[in-house]
Amino acid sequence: MRKNYNSFLNIFVLLFYSASFTQTNNKWISPVDFPIKLSGTFGEFRNNHFHAGLDIKTQGKEGVKIRSSNSGWVNRIRVSLNGYGKALYVDHLDGTTSVYGHLKKFSPKIESYLKKKQYENETYVIQLFPKVNELKIEKGEVIGYSGNTGGSYGPHLHFEIRKEKGQVPINPMKFSFLIKDSKRPQIQNFYLYTNLGSKLEKKEFKLVRKNDSIYTTSGIISAGNFYVGLRLFDRQDLTYNKNGIYSVKVRSNGVEKFFYKMDRMTFDDSKYINLLIDYKELASKRKRIQLFTLHPEQKLSFIKDNSLKGDINIDKDKSYQILIEINDYNQNTSYIEAYIKGTVKKEDHIQTTYNLIDPVKEHLFEFEDQKVFFPKKSFFSNVNVKIEKKGDTLIVGENIYPLRKSYEVYHKIPKGDSIGISQSFLSFINKNGDATFFSSTIKDGYWYGKSNILGKYIVSRDSVSPEIKKINFKDQQWLSNYKYLKLNISDDFSGIKKIRGEINGRWILLEYEPKNKSLIYDFSDQNFKKPLHKLEILAEDQAGNKTVFKTEFYRKPK
Ligand SMILES: [Zn+2]
Repeated sequence: MRKNYNSFLNIFVLLFYSASFTQTNNKWISPVDFPIKLSGTFGEFRNNHFHAGLDIKTQGKEGVKIRSSNSGWVNRIRVSLNGYGKALYVDHLDGTTSVYGHLKKFSPKIESYLKKKQYENETYVIQLFPKVNELKIEKGEVIGYSGNTGGSYGPHLHFEIRKEKGQVPINPMKFSFLIKDSKRPQIQNFYLYTNLGSKLEKKEFKLVRKNDSIYTTSGIISAGNFYVGLRLFDRQDLTYNKNGIYSVKVRSNGVEKFFYKMDRMTFDDSKYINLLIDYKELASKRKRIQLFTLHPEQKLSFIKDNSLKGDINIDKDKSYQILIEINDYNQNTSYIEAYIKGTVKKEDHIQTTYNLIDPVKEHLFEFEDQKVFFPKKSFFSNVNVKIEKKGDTLIVGENIYPLRKSYEVYHKIPKGDSIGISQSFLSFINKNGDATFFSSTIKDGYWYGKSNILGKYIVSRDSVSPEIKKINFKDQQWLSNYKYLKLNISDDFSGIKKIRGEINGRWILLEYEPKNKSLIYDFSDQNFKKPLHKLEILAEDQAGNKTVFKTEFYRKPK
């Protein structure tokens, strides 16, 4: 195991050096035909996950050619409504996999392979694992076209390189793609944090720029145990995007207290990301403060030395120099220095206690019609959650603690009015105070759902069926020269759950893009043998309301 790992590393070291001597020797090529500009870096902090690749800008548009960075074969084709959207996974001889996400379309040979399977299985959303010899790929071959599918908000390519075994994402910067970066990381805010049970207490200290690379604070007087928090970003030369940094080192009087660098990660690391940020600050103010501390429950593959916990202990009357070093991948460095003088520790103040949840145990809270169940390990540490009923609303604390595992919410289904009940479901009240669909699953006479966020729940009802509208055609129209049929699908409340389209009673592939509510049918999917055709689309929302949309169109037979 260990040996394999090392030889694997050696391959990279070799690759890295040969590539930096001469560009033509580079084994990997850029997936795009223009200079790489990044809107996201490897290991960057995102909501509930570390970013596993590079986000490459695609000139603000969809449809640019995406090339395979190396030769190999397609190992996986995935089409999903969230995540990486339309994504391609190419395996290479050196034991790596390159991943291309949020594509608009695949190349014709991949697209026809995919469509065949989509029609066979009558589904748009699909995951396929072609055999090694089915879809061979040359280095530089166009494998698809950039898009904005899945969990993407603006056209870009999500590009990843993984070690195939274990699917471990590696920092793609190690493969020597040319990305101009001569700018140092920028520090926005500097905080010192103290842990008081489940409560974090922070204090901000104003930063002053001493010169281009060093930030400093005025003298700090403090006591006890704390660790550092920073708001920061890194910017490359050709873009204004605020991207993530590469490595961090915290020293106190020259002694290393905390260190990590983002060379590789595992998908499991993301389970602990909310311990490396001030969760409450992010949830309530959308401000992301990175914490340089290692929680006892945290297991992060990119932190190699678990004895460096980030704790800095300040003794009375002693002086401390805190030096923080922040690097981007191109070794541009920023430093923060802070001088702290120790004083006498004040007593911790007492918190109001509601329902203390100890993650070692399970906890059940019952009301007349509702139940809330926290399994063991729901949280990372003891938390104080106020669980109560206010009118029809079930309040399960506030979104200020990260969950480690989801908890269960139950609401008893009332008797009577069967239509009303069948259209009802549990809603979560979001940050703006709006009810959003949470769950319509029924279990033992309750609506039941699992949640990863503390907050409020009510029972809602949706009695309006989804709406489908024609976009680029009318009833009974001749569409012989049309390449696509375009429709719009929307639901007023609970959201679209199911869509099925048919032409003349046979399933058709409707590309559904939830972001712009579009449904698109590609006429090249079949040859029409007669002129008149019946299009029928069945849609269902999360509350079970159904719509049947029917229309007819003409097309010259081929
Ligand atoms: Zn991405």
